[in-house]
Amino acid sequence: MPRKPKQQASALKVLPGVAQPSQLNDEAVIRMQGKKNEPLNIDDLFNGIRSGNRMLLSKAITLAESARSDHQLMAQALIEKCLPFSGKSLRIGITGVPGVGKSTFIEALGTWLTSRGHKLAVLAIDPSSSRSKGSILGDKTRMEDLATDPNAFIRPSPSAGTLGGVARKTWETVVLCEAAGFNTIFIETVGVGQSETAVHSMVDFFLLMMLAGAGDELQGIKRGIMEMADGIVINKADGSNLKKAMLARSEYERALNLFPLPPSGLRPKVALCSAIDRSGIKEAWKKIEDYCSFTRMNGYFESKRLEQAEVRMYDTIEGRLRNDFFNDKDIKNMLQKVLLDIREHRISSYIAAQQLLDEYYALNGKK
Ligand code: GDP
Repeated sequence: MPRKPKQQASALKVLPGVAQPSQLNDEAVIRMQGKKNEPLNIDDLFNGIRSGNRMLLSKAITLAESARSDHQLMAQALIEKCLPFSGKSLRIGITGVPGVGKSTFIEALGTWLTSRGHKLAVLAIDPSSSRSKGSILGDKTRMEDLATDPNAFIRPSPSAGTLGGVARKTWETVVLCEAAGFNTIFIETVGVGQSETAVHSMVDFFLLMMLAGAGDELQGIKRGIMEMADGIVINKADGSNLKKAMLARSEYERALNLFPLPPSGLRPKVALCSAIDRSGIKEAWKKIEDYCSFTRMNGYFESKRLEQAEVRMYDTIEGRLRNDFFNDKDIKNMLQKVLLDIREHRISSYIAAQQLLDEYYALNGKK
């Protein structure tokens, strides 16, 4: 469905009669121009990415995020070209409620990693809303050291959209960053509650950040998310909070022991850290590294990546089918009528679905 043009907030006054930029994406087009206003082509972008040119990497990501169909075509060709050069990084998902200390932790761990030669890309998933606009840009002030670190690349979450759309764009950004030589990728969940599954489906290690003494309910952490975690860190284990944090560690370890052994073959470990004091950071990373070496040895690392790739394919098919179906003009009309029939108990939901599908297949010559 075509996107509605968004009104641009601007400090500049526009004279009457001067057209406002109609779409966010127009801006992207301008930003896509190369030197001397020559539009960039796929080869320029590809060569730029492979040589680690961050400006061209940013432009490629903007292209992948654009809703314009010509941009999408270019982006897909570029991503195909980059794919053979991707896959060599360690992909880490970082989740936890707002305020748990994700940005502070990423800054602490990230700068430690880059000082040891890692090339780190920090991405975010936030499909929630307008809050997402520049959420990591906002974080940039919090991740001050990383933002100016030549070995780090911070990219804000793609602007709000469906979870599937945002997840796909984030995934494409991972491929582009890996082709640009980033060997460590952090994907942070910024939204609460819905984006964890999406992040989980694209990372090698899923880290859950918790606080001591806040109670699971308070932290909004569902059992399902605990089960997804490959490791837990209890942050803010400092000052008067340290004792509580130690207690919480044993509680979480006990809780994790009640879950069946995960398919990785490793029970998630619980670590303590203070992101602000930068203590426990190295230890947290060691746990991630240990997990990855263990799962590389037992084959789980690779089989999980393959499974993730399959799931991405199925998700894409489902998304496309759903889109095609619900955007079909005849189906839209019929849907209104059928919904009325359901409301007035003239037809069951199953029969209604069957009628709609039969009509869709008939319209598309499948029956
Ligand atoms: P996010 O919303 O999860 O990204 O959390 P932030 O990193 O923005 O941190 C939220 C607040 O907690 C900020 O005021 C941080 O300074 C503070 N904070 C983060 N880590 C720690 C920590 O280890 N100890 C303490 N005492 N405060 C922390």
